[in-house]
Amino acid sequence: MSGWSRRDFLALTGSATAATLSGRLTTSAEAAMGPADKFDLVIKGGDVLDPSQSLRGRRDIGIRWGVIEAIEPEIAAARALKTIDATGKLVTSGLIDLHCHVYPYGSAIGIPADELVQHQCTTTVVSAGDAGVNNLAALRRYIVAQSRARIYAFVHIANNGLSAFPVAELYNIDNAQMEACAMALAENPDFLIGVKVRMSENVIFKHGLEPLKRGIQACEMCGWPARMMVHIGGVETKELMSQILDLLRPGDVLTHSYSGAPNIGGAFTNIVQDGKLLPAALAAKQRGVMFDVGHGGGSFDFTVADVAIPGGCAPDTISSDIHVFSGNSPGMPYLPNVMSKFMMLGFSLEQVVAMATTAPAKIINRAPKIGTLQIGAPGDIAIMELVEGPVSFVDTRNNKRDGKAYLKPVQTVINGVPFGRPYQAPFAVR
Ligand SMILES: [Zn+2]
Repeated sequence: MSGWSRRDFLALTGSATAATLSGRLTTSAEAAMGPADKFDLVIKGGDVLDPSQSLRGRRDIGIRWGVIEAIEPEIAAARALKTIDATGKLVTSGLIDLHCHVYPYGSAIGIPADELVQHQCTTTVVSAGDAGVNNLAALRRYIVAQSRARIYAFVHIANNGLSAFPVAELYNIDNAQMEACAMALAENPDFLIGVKVRMSENVIFKHGLEPLKRGIQACEMCGWPARMMVHIGGVETKELMSQILDLLRPGDVLTHSYSGAPNIGGAFTNIVQDGKLLPAALAAKQRGVMFDVGHGGGSFDFTVADVAIPGGCAPDTISSDIHVFSGNSPGMPYLPNVMSKFMMLGFSLEQVVAMATTAPAKIINRAPKIGTLQIGAPGDIAIMELVEGPVSFVDTRNNKRDGKAYLKPVQTVINGVPFGRPYQAPFAVR
């Protein structure tokens, strides 16, 4: 910069400065782009829904250089280098899946995140404990680095993560090495959200609260406010379920919140017991523990949700827990289908979209404006069809329910680059 005057510098940055001063978040694209500049991609005519700005209506979305630069009733076709016609389709921010398994080749149950895109419209996904400290670097270097989808992770408190699945990772408590786990957190604050632990009896056997306590200690040792993601479903005893809930801190994530899975002896030890919501569950919810769905292949029971939700424990986030086993199960836990089940349970379209965009984005808290369609947000877009008509849903315990609509994935754009046509050159920069 030495040969540059301050005036040259201002001339270069002037349009951005002016845009900031005039309120770039609310004004049109001309604030950031010249009026003759073209958008790389315009998504035209969709029914746009963005809970982050209470927006619902027909809008065109203009994306340039990977970023949303305009969201307006009409963007002239002449200003678009490429166009996607979204007429009659629902357009939201790219969906965010807070609990899924996206570590292929390194854990036994992972699916490539990019292969999920056409089934889920997910532009951001969180690996829920696929890796422990021993195989976390391989997840970052070999999987995340070559995926188009944005990937974050909870590191497992067990040093082997889910690599030995279906062999339980914590029958031997020695696998839970809290100092090593804390080191992983300390070294990856831009990538990790916190620590995963699975508390089911068939995972931890008789170790009680110890795995959870070690996870919390790792979070508290690492130097930044890491969260726990705690998997429940079939914990050893009824009492243990309340004790787990009592240990969770505000901001920690309870996943499989509506599991109806039994423990090894066949007893039902979940947050609804004998038809009643546990007081410890309501207390956890009220002090700010996040309730996540994590549907999966065995972890979502309509009859548990029927009691827990009216009792005060609605979900904060909807996630799939999709992996190679759950993806082949009758409940079909692909994220838009799980969102559709919550519409059947009485939540609005706006609510289920918020629970799969803005709400998980807030928990991830690693990238500005993900989960929104605000000007300046990454060009991550989900285009879905809201199919109205009779539809039948099944949970993971073979309960069936009839619904009136479901969400069907149509097209996904990540960082301004669509999956499938229309392609751009260079194909991607990020
Ligand atoms: Zn899972």
